[in-house]
Amino acid sequence: MEKKFLLTEKEIPTHWYNIVADMPNKPLPPLHPATKQPLGPDDLAPLFPMELIMQEVSSDRYVEIPEEVREAYKIWRPTPLIRAINLEKTLGTDCHIYYKYEGTSPSGSHKPNTAIPQAYYNKKQGVKRITTETGAGQWGTALSFACKHFGLECDVYMVRISYDQKPYRKSLMNTFGANVFPSPSERTNAGRIALGADPNTPGSLGLAISEAIEMAVGDEETKYSLGSVLNHVLLHQTIIGQEAEKQMEQAGEFPDVVIAPLGGGSNFAGLSFPFLKHKIAGKSLRAIAVEPASCPKLTRGKFMYDFGDAQGYTPLLPMYTLGHTFKPAAIHAGGLRYHGASVICSQLLKDGLIEAAAIQQLECFEAGVLFARTEGIVPAPEANHGIAQVIREVNRAKEEGVKKTILFNLCGHGFVDMAAYDDYFAGKLVNHSFTDEEVTSEIASLAALQP
Ligand SMILES: *Cc1c(COP(=O)(O)O)cnc(C)c1O
Repeated sequence: MEKKFLLTEKEIPTHWYNIVADMPNKPLPPLHPATKQPLGPDDLAPLFPMELIMQEVSSDRYVEIPEEVREAYKIWRPTPLIRAINLEKTLGTDCHIYYKYEGTSPSGSHKPNTAIPQAYYNKKQGVKRITTETGAGQWGTALSFACKHFGLECDVYMVRISYDQKPYRKSLMNTFGANVFPSPSERTNAGRIALGADPNTPGSLGLAISEAIEMAVGDEETKYSLGSVLNHVLLHQTIIGQEAEKQMEQAGEFPDVVIAPLGGGSNFAGLSFPFLKHKIAGKSLRAIAVEPASCPKLTRGKFMYDFGDAQGYTPLLPMYTLGHTFKPAAIHAGGLRYHGASVICSQLLKDGLIEAAAIQQLECFEAGVLFARTEGIVPAPEANHGIAQVIREVNRAKEEGVKKTILFNLCGHGFVDMAAYDDYFAGKLVNHSFTDEEVTSEIASLAALQP
């Protein structure tokens, strides 16, 4: 039985796929928070280079991948598609389970797929330095690598508590040549105000975003970069699904179900959108985005305009959200602790083209450990959510007496997340729940933001 499906460098896709061209209902526009009017490309120019802004608003079906970007992709792409034969055997299922493995990248996740083109377009426009924030450190690591590749400086504002608790992520970023500052820092107004109020504050992602944006807006030669949520980020990630499509053809199959975890939506979009193209054209397919039960914007949030960050600095985005002030429990899948979902994924869910599931972290770690013991790869805690859903689908197929072909995104390995596994084995991880009233009150406060 064939286990690995590999492509050659020549088969790296030449274009990214833009699902907006094929969506029955186009995404609603982002709004300026003061005027509630749709945002124009010029409003974003202080933050992003023009080519990325044009991708952000594009409805062209395909966007050509620059040659320099395809060259850089060759460092780790094409990534393998693997059939999880040992997992299938252990589960005792007739279902075929395939995974696309994005952990072979320099930072160990799918994030360099967008970090590379983002650094490239900034370099092309003459930008000298990129600022960003990082929570758990996956995005900061990917951008550090990409900036070094194209000769840009990279300043990463890392949430103080992660900076202290995840020293190896900081070491990785330093190895790739980035400057890493614990946030809040003394370098920005936002940081100084926060430190003035509480010198021992653990920081937050919202505050780190504020610091990174402040440094970019205040300097002509500096721009800002985001690792998820935005349309251009999702676009770049479609390299994953396009490769997987060719590899599934090699395997002689088309998936019945495509599964990926969802934080902001980029790795889910990356794997599923090239397959959803066929669903929109009439083919049968289920695409399931999996979120943590402790941060369930897709399954318990509301589709509304909301800010992208905790502080309210970003444009208003039409998305499924728990409210920008929602504080998710400190689960170990740091990449999934975000209050909203990308505008495109939100519209697709609203239109019934994708599904969503929420799973508690103990079930996720149980699935991740089973995967490690059968397939030999320790998954990132985020990826465990996808694996737990795969197991649910296998059990459902057994009950229904059907055989399914399931494809999921192993979006990263967990080598820098072993503390999370230690906590799981020590019985320190717990499930989190909250009441409908708690969700409703966060969301009620969004009424004033609606156009
Ligand atoms: C960042 C990250 C995520 C969540 O972000 P998405 O944009 O939803 O993909 C999930 N898994 C890993 C490994 C990540 O690094």
